[in-house]
Amino acid sequence: MFKRTRIAIMSILIVSSFPTGRASAGAAEENLPDRTTAGFVEKLYRVDCGHSLANDESVWTPGENAGKSIEFSSTCWLIEHKNQWVLWDTGVPQSTLNDPKGWSTLPRLIVYHLDKTITGQLADLGLKINDITYVVLSHTHGDHIGNVGLFPNSKIVMQRAEHKWIYSPDGANNNVNQLKALARKLMGKPKDLQLVDGDTDLLGDGSITLVSTPGHTPGSQSLLVHLKNSGFILLSGDVVHLADNFEKKIVPSLNTDNAASIASMDKVRRMMATYHAKLFINHDKAQTDMLKLLPAFYD
Ligand SMILES: [Zn+2]
Repeated sequence: MFKRTRIAIMSILIVSSFPTGRASAGAAEENLPDRTTAGFVEKLYRVDCGHSLANDESVWTPGENAGKSIEFSSTCWLIEHKNQWVLWDTGVPQSTLNDPKGWSTLPRLIVYHLDKTITGQLADLGLKINDITYVVLSHTHGDHIGNVGLFPNSKIVMQRAEHKWIYSPDGANNNVNQLKALARKLMGKPKDLQLVDGDTDLLGDGSITLVSTPGHTPGSQSLLVHLKNSGFILLSGDVVHLADNFEKKIVPSLNTDNAASIASMDKVRRMMATYHAKLFINHDKAQTDMLKLLPAFYD
């Protein structure tokens, strides 16, 4: 369902959607693969997309850890399947590389640093920017879309609800308004933007599934990947920031919808049981540091 011929006139902004085969685009309606027949991707690589220091952990763990600093990881993932390459998130802007002052999405709260570029890590695998077929975005916070502009010839895939949200009127939370303004700037106008509604089978064989997990932002998503030896792996996006939050069902104060956040965490929990899936939590540095890093891979 996802294969389509690229329209020749590349200068035209292409905003298209995928048929989901569902009667409505209701967020609660699930469209997930059959675990017994789902296809496999060949390889899954972790890409180092930065790390950050926040001065008050309680922003992410309301009611706990007030005034405590915390270090987060920023992780991107690269998937190889039948000579196609899928990049999940794009991390902290490459202009931040080795800058001791770092870069920020919310300067009073958090500072990001970058030790390696995506382009350098792709080159380590013999890949160039134009080899990336799909860039799939978990959501539009700056630390996830910082390099989306580096991939002008890739299909940029995100939830329609997320795209709509960044262009919606500002609300009461000024931090959230700031994040939306930055998102509009970093997103720019991709020439091949593909908007999806809810759970979506990216390649049509059940090997990579975009999983709707709203709440952190209105169009947040996670990614379910199926590997022959490793089984199912669920890449969190920001459905949860820390393993501890997942266990205690704690919702960060920056999230746009508390009830949806809890429901999305429950969906992830159900999926972990159904698919016997491991959950890789993007920003949980303690967990991330234990995971394989490119050029090593999961297969
Ligand atoms: Zn986020």
